[in-house]
Amino acid sequence: MGAPLVIGVDVGGTKILSGVVDRDGNVLGRNLVESPGTSEQDVLGALDACVEALVDDRVGAIGLGVPANLDRATGRVLRATNLPLDDFDLAAHARSRFGLPVAVENDTNAAALAEWKLGAGKGLASLVMLTLGTGVGGGIVLDGRLFRGWAEIGHMVVQVGGPPCQGNCHGRGHLEALASGSAADRIAQELWGQQADSRTLVERARAGVDEALGALDEVAEALGAAIGSLANLFDPELIIVGGGFGEAVADLVLGPAQEAARRQALAPADGTLRVVPASLGEDAGLVGAGLVGFEALDGAW
Ligand SMILES: [Zn+2]
Repeated sequence: MGAPLVIGVDVGGTKILSGVVDRDGNVLGRNLVESPGTSEQDVLGALDACVEALVDDRVGAIGLGVPANLDRATGRVLRATNLPLDDFDLAAHARSRFGLPVAVENDTNAAALAEWKLGAGKGLASLVMLTLGTGVGGGIVLDGRLFRGWAEIGHMVVQVGGPPCQGNCHGRGHLEALASGSAADRIAQELWGQQADSRTLVERARAGVDEALGALDEVAEALGAAIGSLANLFDPELIIVGGGFGEAVADLVLGPAQEAARRQALAPADGTLRVVPASLGEDAGLVGAGLVGFEALDGAW
């Protein structure tokens, strides 16, 4: 019997989550390490430890989800977001370290793959997933295939001349500057001072505080504008919204965002476009990395 399991690794800017994953997306064991994020050597050490903690003879391959732009032909990490991994062949590193097939995918593409194969988008031929976390990422499934390229959905302009974007981005009014966890932190601080953050905003909205509800309406408008544009570009059957901030505000924001999106969308999406929460929660990235691992196991890499 061939090894039926893989290790998926969700490599984040602050933590590395690994898990033993089966073909149905069940996570059979998991491990979390803080990602030091200060040097390439530290990150690789943390990554190796995260795999080492779980690897046994049932494991036949490794899938890595990385917040990075990848060379599509080789899987080489060209430029990572929030990680000191530039122009580095991560797959080759893990292959030689563990002697197993290894595949690498962008982390939000991996999350979209998981939501499509096993989560809220199961059985559909097209969808767009948006991940609202510290930043905003996303993945696109079209014609029954995951788009494997670099889709920076968070950096769509939704407000010309709007607030400056963050990190390496020099644009303004991007979705990430208006509808991410960091955007919510900024909005809360503008309303209530430096002590406030996105949690304050969500708590106060739940308590019915007018400024908080108004601010989340603006978040929903921005998100809806982006989703309406995505609907007009790709005509997806479904829009899935996940990520830590996305989950925290799903019941407050997704309904109004769907309404706002339908106002921008062409027929028939102006009446049919659906915006739903992700269903795999924080495990989407991990499970998606596992699915990528199965691609390596099956010889697709
Ligand atoms: Zn941007």
